[in-house]
Amino acid sequence: MADIEVHCPHCEFLFDVPGSMNGGIASCPDCERTVPIKSGPEPIYWVMVGLGVFAVLAISGGIALAEPIAGLVVAIIGLGIVGLVAVCA
Ligand SMILES: [Zn+2]
Repeated sequence: MADIEVHCPHCEFLFDVPGSMNGGIASCPDCERTVPIKSGPEPIYWVMVGLGVFAVLAISGGIALAEPIAGLVVAIIGLGIVGLVAVCA
């Protein structure tokens, strides 16, 4: 598991902890106060979500040129699916 970058909320110090410590607490090496460790989604996750939204808009945009209502429906359904996947992932 990759290291987690922790940003100390007390002194703004940045440090790394092993990924296995995710969800626990660490002691800040700079100010020595406890810091909760919470790893957010990997950056690649947001890239995938962005690509999903882009793909949906591109496809629905193409459809909307011929059938505006159908394009709107595809956009709403597609964004709903991407949003659902983003929340569940
Ligand atoms: Zn600190």
